[in-house]
Amino acid sequence: MQPPGPGMPAKALPGVRHVLAVASGKGGVGKSTVAANLALALHKLGHSVGLMDADIYGPSVPMMMGLGTVDQRTTPFPILKYGLKLMSMGFMVDPNQAIIWRGPKVAQAVQAFLFSVDWGVLDYLVIDLPPGTGDAQLTLTQSAPLTGAVIVTTPQDISLIDARKGLRMFREVKVPVLGIIENMSHFIGDDGKRYDIFRTGGGKKLAQEAGVPLLGELPIDPRVAECSDQGEPIVSKYPDAPIAVAYLTLAQTIAHETQNRQAPEALPEVQL
Ligand code: ADP
Repeated sequence: MQPPGPGMPAKALPGVRHVLAVASGKGGVGKSTVAANLALALHKLGHSVGLMDADIYGPSVPMMMGLGTVDQRTTPFPILKYGLKLMSMGFMVDPNQAIIWRGPKVAQAVQAFLFSVDWGVLDYLVIDLPPGTGDAQLTLTQSAPLTGAVIVTTPQDISLIDARKGLRMFREVKVPVLGIIENMSHFIGDDGKRYDIFRTGGGKKLAQEAGVPLLGELPIDPRVAECSDQGEPIVSKYPDAPIAVAYLTLAQTIAHETQNRQAPEALPEVQL
């Protein structure tokens, strides 16, 4: 297969309708959790969905999905679980084993995940990017026709500063930013009341500033971490939890935002 590059026709993923990147400026804001639960929520709405873990150094999809390394001779990629097609470096290398690679190898891995894995026909390929603006981000935006990126942030100012950088990077590489997702936005008590634990409104402020929609506000739920540790994301494990309902609403909003968008015909030409 000819490696893709800037300006080339973007037809390398012919069966995939929308490639969606889930990004964040910094780690720990819940980006991987959002990518996994969003993928499941899109699947619940009836879409066929793949989830690609582009965090080569710190893969989290296997643990969140209750999986580990597999025997590649007997288990073809992508791996199926909870109705999703999954690919992650953590299926190939034990996540506890450090991967020490230079940038070009990260780029190669991202390209192999995109183009050598048989994704088949998908409505959405959700890509969990590592935090920040590094090799994986650049490779992805230079290789695959992205419908758009969503940026995950938390309400605090410090998280917003990094989110802004992420937003700027996507603009520079000419990938549309579909909007902002505010995670750990508030807490809903047993009394049904909403409590703003952190300062509130950060996601909204960032969205307004950037002129993009605030796609969703996801509450804090202590069961999210428990679900990750047990290998079943909350949307699947506790489908009636307020956060699971918020994920379904988010998936509907994203489906609506993407329905009239086409993946670009050609990869964007950018000067880096
Ligand atoms: P990132 O991918 O941004 O580094 P993770 O998805 O690994 O972040 O999430 C960081 C931690 O926060 C994990 O322990 C995860 O279970 C927890 N978490 C994420 N979202 C929520 C939430 N809405 N409520 C409670 N805990 C959350």
